[in-house]
Amino acid sequence: MTAHAAPPQPRLANRRDAFWMPFTPMRGFQSEPMLFESAQGMHYVTPEGRRILDGMAGLWCVNAGHGQPRIVEAIREAAGRLDFVSSFKMSHPAAEAYAQRLCEFAPEGIDHVFFVNSGSEAVDTALKIARAYHHARGQAGRTKLIGRHKSYHGVGFGGLSVAGIGRHKAAFGPLLADVAHLPLPYDRASMAFSRGQPEGGASASEALETLLQIHDPSTVAAVIVEPVTGSGGVYPPPKGYLERLRAICDKHGILLIFDEVITGFGRLGTPFAAQAYGVKPDLMSCAKGMTNGAVPMGGVLVASHVYEAFMAGPPEAVELFHGYTYSAHPLACAAGLATLDIFAEQDLLGRLRGVLPLWQDRAHRLKGAPHVADIRTAGLLCAIDLSPRPGAEGARGGACARLCYEADLLIRNAGDTLVLSPPLVIAPDEIETIFATIEAALSRID
Ligand code: PMP
Repeated sequence: MTAHAAPPQPRLANRRDAFWMPFTPMRGFQSEPMLFESAQGMHYVTPEGRRILDGMAGLWCVNAGHGQPRIVEAIREAAGRLDFVSSFKMSHPAAEAYAQRLCEFAPEGIDHVFFVNSGSEAVDTALKIARAYHHARGQAGRTKLIGRHKSYHGVGFGGLSVAGIGRHKAAFGPLLADVAHLPLPYDRASMAFSRGQPEGGASASEALETLLQIHDPSTVAAVIVEPVTGSGGVYPPPKGYLERLRAICDKHGILLIFDEVITGFGRLGTPFAAQAYGVKPDLMSCAKGMTNGAVPMGGVLVASHVYEAFMAGPPEAVELFHGYTYSAHPLACAAGLATLDIFAEQDLLGRLRGVLPLWQDRAHRLKGAPHVADIRTAGLLCAIDLSPRPGAEGARGGACARLCYEADLLIRNAGDTLVLSPPLVIAPDEIETIFATIEAALSRID
């Protein structure tokens, strides 16, 4: 008789690093990851039952708050009815309904949407549509793409190429060749502690005219900007800047792309930044808040005149050879429709506009707190720059974010810049909790 062998141990038992975590330094990753087991409304809940106030809406995406029953139910219902349809010459009712509702949410004249699955895909899709647009119009020489210092446009090769944060690119070259960059329209000496949009945007945008004297404008396909720089540290556009970019692009036949992955879906108190600032781009990339973060989804909203150029172009232009297996996924469309229902039924934008003055006032009361060098606000976004500890850049930002987490508040730090982007359903007492917690943490670092 043979002895019973011990049951085999799972090969990777207790190996937490089987999960190669995005944006996470895995070597020496000794501290436990922040582990969340559930989420409801404004809070995450840890396995020990701690309720953590979510100062980031997940990752700038859970705009209507966590666990919205309407979205949960819509996903459940959709999963049971139709799990998958290719969008390769096929469609389904939720895709068509969501496309229409989404375009109605966008500024007038933006009447088409190309569905993708993330912000990175949305940006790369927008850049490809821009080049293909000129191609369809017989201007195949228009290939250059203009991005901007400090912008973040995801991790695809296109988005990484036009992005303006050098250290993100270091390991991945060569990137797209035909790219140039605008400076960030921000001057701390004259703009620090501005509330909302600082003055001086019209002159800042002249940098585009200068760039177009270096790069023949007839070779430029598109300019891409985040209307409010997000991950790079919440820089609102100075007054007149976006308007002037629009005018310069029009003058030279260049498409203007707004990357609205963060600013879309209510973050500024309007559906998109385009409505908040009264400037209409030709293409808008979006993702994150589309499904309230519940199902991966992204999209490119396309102005009618761009779409029509494909329809009027040569036969090969009518089929844009681009797309993804999961474009317009039924679960994502269901979650997207439910998200738009919530915006309408719960008047999310009206409620948010009611609390924005308090958000801005309370944020700016941190002026004078230890280490605070600048505060910027735009809609329900806020960045607080800390002066770096000499010789230890990023240390103060990291320490402050850790202390906040110990005090049950989740915020982000990009180096020494603290970034805030809570769900839009935030209540006045939660605004107070966020800034009081940060203030207490600032008095404890160093
Ligand atoms: N564009 C912007 C402006 C973003 O903020 C992000 C993500 N933070 C992206 C693109 C990329 O989105 P994703 O992570 O969904 O690919």
